[in-house]
Order: sequence, then structure tokens, then C-alpha cells
Amino acid sequence: MATTHILIIEDEPEIAELIALNLDTAGMRAEAAASGEAGLSAMETTMPDLVVLDLMLPGIDGLEVCRRLKYEAATRSLPIIMLTARGEEADIVAGLEMGADDYMVKPFSPRELVARIRAVLRRDEPAPHEDARSRKAEGIRIDADRHEVLVDGVAVELTLTEFQILRYLAQRPGFVRTRDQIIEAAHGPHVIMSGRTIDVHITALRKKLAHRGGSIETVRGVGYRIDTSVLLA
Ligand code: CA
Repeated sequence: MATTHILIIEDEPEIAELIALNLDTAGMRAEAAASGEAGLSAMETTMPDLVVLDLMLPGIDGLEVCRRLKYEAATRSLPIIMLTARGEEADIVAGLEMGADDYMVKPFSPRELVARIRAVLRRDEPAPHEDARSRKAEGIRIDADRHEVLVDGVAVELTLTEFQILRYLAQRPGFVRTRDQIIEAAHGPHVIMSGRTIDVHITALRKKLAHRGGSIETVRGVGYRIDTSVLLA
């Protein structure tokens, strides 16, 4: 298999170097670009497997880079992990809604970033078979065909909206979904609805999931995610 190639678009050389060093240790190939323009032109030469994209860049900023990548057919499915500073929740939400896969807030652990990169790249691979956990049935099992949810083997009654929210979060466990993304998943596109409505559904859903309710985590200012460890295959 070819070496995984990661493009880092980051104007702070120390951060870019630190990431590159950690990717190298993890057996991946890192390429750095110090501006959005440089990053976009690097991609014209070699298409990376994933982009680590700082949002605050000189010239065109990270959100604009993200928008352009998602606009072009050739780069639309290229995974993106955003790097942001604390307090940039609105930009994180905008980036996620534009199609970025994940984000990290500075200062971050480079090892955590490597783990997140692996998780994003693994996303499309089939989930490993988890025999032991399935047998014990401790956790949340979602049966999409039967529209049924089992918590530790016991069926719980969910409304259609709650079911759709849970299923949507479970499609990418451990990854944040914004309120608008959740509204679209539950009600379809072009539905105007307040994010507060989603908060209310989430509260009801958590109650029904009983002691597993805490597995739906609030990410302040951004949205919600579900804990990876609680879902049964
Ligand atoms: Ca920056």
C-alpha cells in the first residue's frame, strides 16, 4: 500500500513542523504549505489523502480553502481536519457544515491529531467484528431495518425524530455533528428550525437511553457527538 500522504496547510512553521514530525513517526508522509494559495497549488501537483487545514491563514483563509475544495469535484471527497484557535466555534461550525470532517483546537496534542487522522481515513472501511461485546449486548444497538433501538439488550421507544438523530450521530461515532446537520438529517434539507429544537430532542433522547444517555455528548458552541465505545455493531 502506498504511504499515506498528508498535506498540512499552516502558516506557523513550528506547528507545521511538529505535525510533520509526528506524521513521520506514524509512518505517513507529510507535506507542508504556509498559505491557502500554496496548499491549493500543491494539490494540483499531488493529491494528498487528507488535508490538515489551519483556519487562520494569511491571504485566503482556511474556510475559503475548505469551500473551494468542497466545490471542485476532484477534491470534494478529500478529507479535511481543521485546526482552530479557542473561541472560533462559529468557524468550526461553518467548516463542519461545509463538509470538513473534524477539527482540533489549539494547543492540541500532535498524537491526538494523528489518531484523528487515522480515524477519518478509517471511516470508510468496514467496522471490525466485535464478537465479545455483541454477545454481552452491553451498549446501544441500532437496528435500522426494524427501526429499533436496544439499550443493553432492552428495547426503547423512540420517536421517529429521536431515532433519526441517534442513527445520524452513530454513523460517525466520536465525530461532532452541528445542530444544522442534525436538523437536516432528521427533517431533510430546506427545513428552517431552531437549534434549540434539536437540544430538546437530544434531552428527550438522553432520557430514553437511560444510563447510556451520557454517551451523547454536548460539544459547547459546536454540536453533539456520540461516544464511540457505547455502540454495538
Ligand atoms: Ca494560523
